Amino acid sequence: MYFAVSRQTAPSEGYSDLYLDTINRSVLDFDFEKLCSVSLSNINVYACLVCGKYYQGRGPKSHAYFHALEIGHHVYVNMQTKKVFVLPEGYEVTSKSLEDIKFVVDPQLPKDEVMQLDQVARDAWDLSGKKYRPGFVGMNNIKANDYFNAIIQALAHVPPLRNFFMLEDFSSRTTSSSELATRFSVLVRKIWNTRAFKTHVSPHELLQQVSRQSNKKFDLLHQSDPVEFLSWFLNNMHLALGGSKTKAGTSIIHRVFQGKLKVESQRITAKADAGDRLRFEEAAEVIVDTMRYLMLTLDLPAAPLFQDELDRNIIPQVPLTSILSKYDGVRAQEHLSMRKRYRLLHPLPPYLLFHIKRFSKNKFVSERNPTIVTFPIRSLDMAPYVEPNPAMHPPGEPIWYDLVANVTHEAVRTRDDSVEGEAERKVWRVQIRDRARDEWLQVQDLFVERVAAETLFTKESYLMVWERRREGKRKEKGSN
Ligand SMILES: [Zn+2]
Repeated sequence: MYFAVSRQTAPSEGYSDLYLDTINRSVLDFDFEKLCSVSLSNINVYACLVCGKYYQGRGPKSHAYFHALEIGHHVYVNMQTKKVFVLPEGYEVTSKSLEDIKFVVDPQLPKDEVMQLDQVARDAWDLSGKKYRPGFVGMNNIKANDYFNAIIQALAHVPPLRNFFMLEDFSSRTTSSSELATRFSVLVRKIWNTRAFKTHVSPHELLQQVSRQSNKKFDLLHQSDPVEFLSWFLNNMHLALGGSKTKAGTSIIHRVFQGKLKVESQRITAKADAGDRLRFEEAAEVIVDTMRYLMLTLDLPAAPLFQDELDRNIIPQVPLTSILSKYDGVRAQEHLSMRKRYRLLHPLPPYLLFHIKRFSKNKFVSERNPTIVTFPIRSLDMAPYVEPNPAMHPPGEPIWYDLVANVTHEAVRTRDDSVEGEAERKVWRVQIRDRARDEWLQVQDLFVERVAAETLFTKESYLMVWERRREGKRKEKGSN
C-alpha cells in the first residue's frame, strides 16, 4: 500500500526548507504529557509540528513514520533532544527558523535574565500579538485542578525556589522520583517564558506525575485541599531533589521553608478528693520538644453568628497578629488531655508558610469558618513569636516579613436559592506580587487581573507565603 521511501541523511539540494511552511505554531504548546498518541509510550516521543500530536520513533515502522505517510505531515521534533526531522525521508533540519519552537519545548532563560526577573518589568507578545506579562500567565483548569494551580503559582513566585528550578539542569537526573522535580522545573520555566506562543500554560504534565506518584490522591478530576496538596508536594519534592529524611537543610525546599519550634507539653490530670465533690488539677511535668516545620497552622477563633438589624450574617474579622499569638510561648492550647505551648526558634526561615485553618470535620459534617483575617501586606514583625536568643538576634529588634502570595477560598453557591453553607462549591484563587512593577495580580485559572493591594485581606485567606526582609535591605517604599 505504501510507496517506497528513500531514506536520506540530508535534504536534496535546494530543498532544505521544504515543508517548514507547513508548521503550525498555533497548535503547539508541548504542555500535555508526552505520550505517543498511538502506543501511549513515553519513550522516544516526537511531536508533529503540523498538528501538534505526539508519535513514537522516527524509523521505518514507527508511529511518526506512518503518520507522515498516511496524513502527509512531514516535520517532527524530538521531545528530548529537540532535534527536528523531516519524515519519511528521515533527515535532520537545522534551520535557525526553528529556534523559537525548540525554546517553547523547554524555555531556558540565561542566568542574567533570571536574576533580573524581579527588577525589570517586561512585556511579551504571544503568537497572535496578544500582550502578556511573563510570570503572570493563566493556568488551565482541566477539570477540577484549581487547588493545584493556586499552589503552583504561589511557589513559582518564591524567588530562590523559582531561580533554582529555572537554572538547574535536570536532564542528568533520571530516576522516577526526580521526574517530579523535572516537570515542576519545566512548568516554572513556562510560566516565566518571555517567548511563549500562548498567554497561558497547562499544568497537565506535572499533574499526571503528581497523580501517579500520589496514587491519585491528587489529580485533575477531583478538587482537593490546596494545603494538603502543598504539604504532599513539598515533602515529595524534597525527596525528588535528593533531600535527607533526617538531616536539616538538605534540599532547596527545606532551605527556603523549614524552621524550628519549641513545644512544651504538660499532661492535664484531674484528681477527685475523698468525697468526690471537688476535682482539682495536678501540676504534671513539662516536657520540652524541638520540632521542625515547613508550614505553621493558625487557628481561627470560633465564628459567632452575629446578625445585624436586617438579619444578615456579619462576617467576623481577626487580625493576623492575634492568631499568630498561638506561637508566643505564653498562650496554652489544649489538645486531648495535653496542654501545649508553642514558640518559634531562631533562625526563622527565609519564607514562612501560614495555613489558616478554616475547615474542620466532625463526625457529621465538614464545617467552614468564614472569619476574615486582616493583615498588612508589608512589615509583619515576627519577633514576638520567637524565643529570644541574643547570640542569633538582638533582643527587641523586629524581624520583618513581607507578603509574597496569598491563596484564597471562596464559597460559591451552586444554586441561587440555596441557603448559606448548603450546596456550595469551593473556588481557589491566588494573589501574587509583581515585584518589578510593585503591583498585585489575582489569578484564577486562566483569568489574571490586577487587584488593589489594600483589598487583599478582604478574601478568605487560606495559605500565605511571607518573605523575610534581608538584613541591611532598606525598608521598602510605601506603606501598603
Ligand atoms: Zn500531524
